[in-house]
Amino acid sequence: GDKRLRLPPWLKTEIPVGKNFAKLKENLRGLNLHTVCEEARCPNIGECWGGGPDATATATIMLMGDTCTRGCRFCSVKTSKAPPPLDPNEPVNTAIAIAAWGLDYVVLTSVDRDDLPDQGSNHLSQTVSELKQRKPELLVECLTPDFRGDRDCVERIVLSGLDVFAHNIETVEELTWLVRDPRAKYQQSMDVLRYAKQVRPDVVTKSSIMLGLGETDDQVRKTLEDLRAANVDCVTLGQYMQPTKRHLKVTEYVTPEKFAQWESVGKELGFLYTASGPLVRSSYKAGEFFIKNIIQ
Ligand code: SF4
Ligand code: SF4
Repeated sequence: GDKRLRLPPWLKTEIPVGKNFAKLKENLRGLNLHTVCEEARCPNIGECWGGGPDATATATIMLMGDTCTRGCRFCSVKTSKAPPPLDPNEPVNTAIAIAAWGLDYVVLTSVDRDDLPDQGSNHLSQTVSELKQRKPELLVECLTPDFRGDRDCVERIVLSGLDVFAHNIETVEELTWLVRDPRAKYQQSMDVLRYAKQVRPDVVTKSSIMLGLGETDDQVRKTLEDLRAANVDCVTLGQYMQPTKRHLKVTEYVTPEKFAQWESVGKELGFLYTASGPLVRSSYKAGEFFIKNIIQ
């Protein structure tokens, strides 16, 4: 039967809304930008868009369409072997819209495009450079595919002018086969992260782990150690939430206290910052964390 765990109280709480939220929401109308924040109904939107005490507004934009060539078992994005072609105007149009919007930090993410010869890497890097030309002070993070480990693609993204290179390891090595698409591999993702830092050591690298998929504490610790050994600068840990009945079940709702312990472990291991909590997503308040922990 479909025996699902009951939602714990800490996942039902109301989340504060920062002061910029209403303004950003208003300004977004008419810009024709698709934010993951709104489309995935992310619970953090009030905090990310509203900004903290420094009012650093962060949002996540999805590029290269809504259809992915992969089928990870935790993800609700549509899958096809042959998604529609890329929109050649997307890099320029997106850059114009984002530059007009009033963000401080933007996360550009995308579906995986294994069907394209360059896996979409030129499209992504063009978006960054168009954006940086128009608004150099905007902090830009790319949350990228693994490009099946293709170093030319990774290099193209790293040299695009971005500030932060992010690629999510998603889960521990032992569960990778179950959780991620078969083309995704734990060591391959570690190599992508290590190589990005090698290409441009001044670029900040970042990764993310979901908890509640059946991983053990030792496996989580090992994953954090492996990320550090790959020179990853920042890490986030959050609760996996099952998007539909057809996706992997949650095996455990990890407590806020446990998430706080992982934050201490991250600190001990020497990450520039570790964001860890039930509702943390890889882009959670990314601008605020960047300004507090990296620029200063
Ligand atoms: Fe948007 Fe990410 Fe913040 Fe959610 S966590 S509101 S997706 S930037
Ligand atoms: Fe979802 Fe990314 Fe996996 Fe595609 S590669 S199915 S977008 S998690």
